[in-house]
Amino acid sequence: MNKKDECAIFQDLYELYIEEEVEEETKQWMMEHEVECAHCQNSRKDSEGNLSLHEDSEKISGIRIMTMSLYSMFLFLAIWMSVWYLW
Ligand SMILES: [Zn+2]
Repeated sequence: MNKKDECAIFQDLYELYIEEEVEEETKQWMMEHEVECAHCQNSRKDSEGNLSLHEDSEKISGIRIMTMSLYSMFLFLAIWMSVWYLW
């Protein structure tokens, strides 16, 4: 059994594992895999909502950048207009 298969099985059984509806032998294997597999630890964190939080902050910074560039464009236009008038 290779690593990728183990992870797939782990994730398939994870719900049952939480509810302790797996056999003792399986549970033992799950506990070991949970500790030693960074991949499964990360994907569990993702499903707990940290990812959506990260997406939100990315969205906010995207909006901020857009607002800033719109603002500087407006500022540039205002300066350009006033120079045009003064001449
Ligand atoms: Zn894994």
